[in-house]
Amino acid sequence: MKKVAIIGAGPAGIEAASVLAANDCEVVLFEKSTAPLPNILDKAFLFPDFSSSQELADKLSAKLLNDNIKVLCEKEIVNIVKNEGEFKLTDKEGKAYFAEKVLITTGYTLFDAHRKEELGYGIYKGVITSLDLERMIHHKQITNSMGEEPGKIVFLQCVGSRDEKSGNNYCSKVCCVTAVKQAIEVRKLLPEAEIYLYYMDLRMWGKGFEEMYREAQEKYDIRFIRGRISEASATFDNKVQIKSEDTLIGQPLKMTTDLLVLMCGMEPSAGTRNLGAACGIEGDYHFIATQGPHLGDNLTAVDGLFVAGTAKQPLSIRDTLTDATAAAFAILKK
Ligand SMILES: Cc1cc2nc3c(=O)[nH]c(=O)nc-3n(C[C@H](O)[C@H](O)[C@H](O)COP(=O)(O)OP(=O)(O)OC[C@H]3O[C@@H](n4cnc5c(N)ncnc54)[C@H](O)[C@@H]3O)c2cc1C
Ligand code: SF4
Repeated sequence: MKKVAIIGAGPAGIEAASVLAANDCEVVLFEKSTAPLPNILDKAFLFPDFSSSQELADKLSAKLLNDNIKVLCEKEIVNIVKNEGEFKLTDKEGKAYFAEKVLITTGYTLFDAHRKEELGYGIYKGVITSLDLERMIHHKQITNSMGEEPGKIVFLQCVGSRDEKSGNNYCSKVCCVTAVKQAIEVRKLLPEAEIYLYYMDLRMWGKGFEEMYREAQEKYDIRFIRGRISEASATFDNKVQIKSEDTLIGQPLKMTTDLLVLMCGMEPSAGTRNLGAACGIEGDYHFIATQGPHLGDNLTAVDGLFVAGTAKQPLSIRDTLTDATAAAFAILKK
């Protein structure tokens, strides 16, 4: 029986574990959080079909009920060393584990909006992130800084992505569709609110995404403005004033809003960064590098050490699951 260690119990780690277990591998799945799927359970509903994240989490968790899978939570792996064909993994407490193959599925973290000081996150209460809004949507209660129902909400795309100043030139891929999804959810909860969405260009690349974008305009009255917000500040009555430019008509714009929602992009998680550096497989922007984008996209430069999911690049859940299955078969083939 092949002994495989998987680091990170997100969608990628769980999907790969279930494929490997079904093919007679003995899998140990390490998760640093108290339970699997923290980056799924922090959302209310998922694009593209507005399905419940809890339902998906339940279905994924059920895949772990297999005698060949052992899940170890609150175990953060901090180092991996290969020695005579065997991998030694060390957790934060210094305990060692051994495996023949290792799959890294340590995923992403949300860009820290505090780094864009000019947008006022952490300074003005009316400036929130997409994750903060997701929690409000989950509790069906959207409020402004005064705890009241907001009359106007503005979304801003590409925060910490496609942005040289943040050091992230790449596109995070999921935040355009997430913003449209969230704007529709806000409309359902606040039928009277004015909702604006500032974008550089909308990347609605997936099946059903373009239709969702059309519906957002035609059915849900979401207003799209092509432009970037350069600065946010507070008004005397605790609203947020934004300065921007409408880049379609070349006009500067000023707007006051109750809530400014920052659509933060994805960055490699601390685990992805640390293990990438420790194993010498760090790629662009500290994501894990693979052997190539076409063939070998789950293989790293270290034989027997594999990678899947958003530890490599920003991906949707569907693409993550497909990638994890591919990684599992790459492990079985070796
Ligand atoms: C704001 C936002 C909204 C999104 N909404 C959607 C949506 O509606 N639909 C959709 O398809 N996609 C959505 N996504 C994308 C989705 O979250 C990802 O595709 C998915 O979570 C990727 O799964 P993963 O397993 O690669 O990584 P993750 O979900 O990040 O899982 C990685 C796991 O590894 C663990 N870990 C990290 N380091 C270590 C370590 N050293 N030791 C042990 N464990 C470790 C983490 O705790 C985590 O559980 C959204 C993303 C963002 C940012
Ligand atoms: S997906 Fe959209 S919001 Fe996210 S970085 Fe790409 S263009 Fe910007």
